[in-house]
Amino acid sequence: DYKLSRRVNAIKPSPTLAVSQKAAELKAAGKDVIGLGVGEPDFDTPEFIREAAKQAIDEGHTRYTAVDGIPALKQAVCDKFKRDNQLSYTPDQVLISSGGKHSIFNLLTAWLDEGDEVVIPAPYWVSYPDMTLLVGAKPVIVQATIEQEYKITADQLRSAITEKTRLLFLNSPSNPTGMAYSADELKALAEVLRDYPNILIATDDMYEHILWGDEPFVNLPMVAPDLIERTVILSGVSKAYAMTGWRIGYAAGPKAIIAAMKKVQSQSTSNPAAVSQHAALAALEGDQSCIQTMVTEFKKRHDYLVKALHEIPGIQCLPGHGTFYTFPNVTGLMRKAGVDTDVALCERLLEEANVALVPGSAFGTQGYFRLSFATSMDVLEEAVKRIRAFAESL
Ligand code: PLP
Repeated sequence: DYKLSRRVNAIKPSPTLAVSQKAAELKAAGKDVIGLGVGEPDFDTPEFIREAAKQAIDEGHTRYTAVDGIPALKQAVCDKFKRDNQLSYTPDQVLISSGGKHSIFNLLTAWLDEGDEVVIPAPYWVSYPDMTLLVGAKPVIVQATIEQEYKITADQLRSAITEKTRLLFLNSPSNPTGMAYSADELKALAEVLRDYPNILIATDDMYEHILWGDEPFVNLPMVAPDLIERTVILSGVSKAYAMTGWRIGYAAGPKAIIAAMKKVQSQSTSNPAAVSQHAALAALEGDQSCIQTMVTEFKKRHDYLVKALHEIPGIQCLPGHGTFYTFPNVTGLMRKAGVDTDVALCERLLEEANVALVPGSAFGTQGYFRLSFATSMDVLEEAVKRIRAFAESL
């Protein structure tokens, strides 16, 4: 028996990756399992991006780069913020890292001390609480139900804040719910945050472009420019450009915080992979219509799926604003199946219907499951058929 660190014992492996792995194992064992657990686009990285990477290799971009990323990519990130968000950043306010997850990790390591509190709206992306625990800080979960479109209110935020609160996570559009905060909703949160100058806002904009709601994308500093000095934007190329395996994320924020994050990176991973940085540069500078092609397909699947799921007895499913996830309430189905938890329901769906889903409790909210529609329409239709047959058999 090894005595492992308190910090590592406080966390669990990513439940979404675990579901994907379980589905893959069952498939390998010959079972006809449909995996709807994955969080990555089913599209290939667009060709012009792949070509840029090949060219980068041939041109010898195979060595260490600057720790914080190649200057051209940092400038491209600044240009992206100007183009898409009307926000002005200089390259010394930008850090390129090895995926969006890594950007978040650098921020938490640079910003939080033991005992600091982090406000995390639930349903949350699975990694926020565990990453918070890993750096010794304390997650404070705020529940948002389906009735409030899974978005926290200003009053809820105020009640969660204590003198120890140092960070607030916002993720819009949201993994797992697909919901996006409106400008007015963000303004209401900003109003509360103005009363608490010690709180930094981490806005995770990973799904910025995978959006089809009535309102264009907004984040907190876009509607509350006075808070930009207290905000770090976290994003990356993984989802928008189907580049999950390239591992490039980026952060933008106050110079001093970005410098501290860079210091963490310099003593851990050093620069993100050089070839991937050149691919990300091509993605950010190239023709952006590749995003729309994917979003059009995601929206088509979303429209089909939300309607089809909602029609199944025991499932309540709301249309989302973006991402490639939907997060239906399945308490009715749990009741019919005679199970108390969404974990038990998902286990039965896996065993009896051969459909792999991630239980809502993995995202901090009991009574739901997350279904990823980053898979073909044929597969989604078959999955719905199986879930419906399961519901009707109860
Ligand atoms: N933030 C959110 C909300 C995500 O869903 C993900 C990926 O699932 C990430 C960050 C991390 O992305 P990356 O694969 O670039 O680390």
